[in-house]
Amino acid sequence: MTLDYLIVGQGLAGTALAAELLMRDRKFMVIDRFRMNSSSLVATGLINPVIARNLNMYWNADYFLPYAEKSFRQMEKRLGESFYTPLEMLRIFRSDEERGKLEERLEAHPNPYVGSFRTEVPAGIAAPRGAAPIRGVAYLETKTLLPAMRQYLRNAGILLEEPFDYGKLLCEGPLLQYGLWQAERIVFAEGPGVIENPWFPDLPFAFTKGELLTLEIEGGPQHTVISKGHNLVPAGDKRYKFGASYAWDYSDARPTPEARALLEERLRELLQLPYKIIGQEAGIRPTVRDRKPLLGSAGSDPRIALLNGLGSHGAIMAPALARDLIDYLENDKPLMKEVRVERKIKAHNG
Ligand SMILES: Cc1cc2nc3c(=O)[nH]c(=O)nc-3n(C[C@H](O)[C@H](O)[C@H](O)COP(=O)(O)OP(=O)(O)OC[C@H]3O[C@@H](n4cnc5c(N)ncnc54)[C@H](O)[C@@H]3O)c2cc1C
Repeated sequence: MTLDYLIVGQGLAGTALAAELLMRDRKFMVIDRFRMNSSSLVATGLINPVIARNLNMYWNADYFLPYAEKSFRQMEKRLGESFYTPLEMLRIFRSDEERGKLEERLEAHPNPYVGSFRTEVPAGIAAPRGAAPIRGVAYLETKTLLPAMRQYLRNAGILLEEPFDYGKLLCEGPLLQYGLWQAERIVFAEGPGVIENPWFPDLPFAFTKGELLTLEIEGGPQHTVISKGHNLVPAGDKRYKFGASYAWDYSDARPTPEARALLEERLRELLQLPYKIIGQEAGIRPTVRDRKPLLGSAGSDPRIALLNGLGSHGAIMAPALARDLIDYLENDKPLMKEVRVERKIKAHNG
């Protein structure tokens, strides 16, 4: 059978591509080798249109957020599972000085996602200087979404559960050939696995390791994310996620005692309730040096494309970027210049 697409990878990027192609009635096959500790499965799953540090709007949040909500809601219907939960977020102030600075900044650059500062916070949260409420936040439970999409693809007979063998992709004919399959195009969405990809060598990645804790807390906030450098995210029942750490220097993708100690220290500054740690996970984020995604076609063959570089914001960006990439490949609709794979990238400075 001739396919419209082969997709390599079923993290958030590959899942968003699959959802977009299902909506457009395209014929495709997903190839994924599955890793328990893929960034997408480990992720906190926060969708947040605001940069918590300075209360600025996240880059293009107005563009990404509506399509993320629409797309994840459609996926919930198709997959018969619930994994998208809108939440309020409170960004706790560290000091009067910080509160004052943020107030001034918001006066100069108003942000519609930030509400009036307040002093009331949920019981059990230490916030003597008050907090800024943030709107438009949601929790995406990737540990429900990804397996549900996987099962859907499996049932439809369009999932190959194996590593992609780059040497087997033949590009000489009018159609791409991979084993028994022929396809018009292939999109690589392998996250950090892209380092083995011969069609996209030397991309400007600076992968970051992230770790988070899963907690049980009696009487914690049920519908509010608490943010103070790290995020405490209600994940249903008494379960919470707390994280995530950032490391640029690391030797493997395993959880570390150092990250656990740091996260616990930050948690104790924030939480006045007893808690129990029930899990610690680590993953590698596909972060790009300029903190923007990487989309587009391989210079040598326009049928070979890439959706990667989601960094620490995959949940808000993946659906709109999947749509934009398909529009680019099928209708020549230009991609935003900031995401094009061929752009010149300098190091991120701030
Ligand atoms: C601790 C932590 C917390 C995070 N919190 C958030 C958050 O709150 N909000 C947010 O938006 N983002 C968060 N992120 C970032 C988010 O997880 C990433 O942006 C996103 O998951 C990247 O998705 P991806 O599909 O590009 O890559 P991945 O998740 O790495 O998925 C790639 C997939 O491709 C498969 N693959 C790779 N190579 C091959 C191959 N050769 N053959 C077959 N299959 C292959 C892998 O097995 C995997 O399934 C967090 C990340 C971490 C680590």
